[in-house]
Amino acid sequence: MTDAVADRTLEAQALAKHYAVSTGYFKPKATVRALDGVSFTLAAGRTLAVVGESGCGKSTLARQLVLIEAPSAGRLLLDGDDVTLHAGATPDRRLRQRIQMVFQNPYASLNPRKKIGGALEEPLVINTPMPAPDRRERARSMMARVGLRPEQLDRYPHMFSGGQRQRIAIARALMLEPEFVVLDEPVSALDVSIQAQVLNLLMDLQQETRVGYVFISHNLAVVELIADDVMVMYLGKSVERAPKPLLFSRPRHPYTRALLASTPRIDAKARRARLMLAGELPSPLAPPPGCAFHRRCPHAIERCKVEVPLLEDSGDGQLVACHRWREIG
Ligand code: SF4
Repeated sequence: MTDAVADRTLEAQALAKHYAVSTGYFKPKATVRALDGVSFTLAAGRTLAVVGESGCGKSTLARQLVLIEAPSAGRLLLDGDDVTLHAGATPDRRLRQRIQMVFQNPYASLNPRKKIGGALEEPLVINTPMPAPDRRERARSMMARVGLRPEQLDRYPHMFSGGQRQRIAIARALMLEPEFVVLDEPVSALDVSIQAQVLNLLMDLQQETRVGYVFISHNLAVVELIADDVMVMYLGKSVERAPKPLLFSRPRHPYTRALLASTPRIDAKARRARLMLAGELPSPLAPPPGCAFHRRCPHAIERCKVEVPLLEDSGDGQLVACHRWREIG
């Protein structure tokens, strides 16, 4: 890896997104804290997985990272430069090229009336002055890199399987040679047998290009295959962040433990330590006071109902937001 590539970083500093939502006629608007002070640093060639239940803020985070929306507070740094001001309605195209996104649904992310060649070349047409023959050549080479035949460029999306379409969506995201790609549930719409193939492809492409991934998923079994580091989110906040081996072998937060317990594991010891997740994710319109997890947590005490736990370093690079992580062990 060259020094320039090794120095690449995507850094979120206390990133927050709050929405004002209507609660009915003649009632004051309520504030939803969809994202509430999330921080992390991702280096080139690495994968940060962001996990949590539906509604925990993962997709809101994704929109902030690809600069589709401006955060309400906090900063986003790309290679050390603050890019927060370029997010939102008038995005800076050059910046957006550097962070691309792959969506969950490969059926919806490709225009059914556009041939694959056109779809792959489109980001180059919009963002670069690259001549047409060069664009076509890059599209052909990208098809080969994602395991498809270059002559398939003249076909339409419906002529491909779901797995192939997700390969095309990945190829499209990489056409501008981005530094980072946000992958929002990229394999959850695919058959289990195809998921592993697409994950392997993502890992091969990362080895080749040193692209950094933010991998958003609700599925810890998938995350275990691809992540270097894992951040667990609950109701807009990061409740645990750790290198993957630590998080899977020694989860500290009760929510992470519950998520892991509900994930099929090969490891027999992990299977025995069952702790089922009770109840639903609370409404973000009326989050519980104190620790937002306290109504579902088997370890909750009075303090948990009134005092918000802060993310603290447990001493070995594992960050956890729980008043009782030491006692829980
Ligand atoms: Fe459970 Fe309390 Fe820890 Fe929250 S702070 S996870 S309620 S023990």
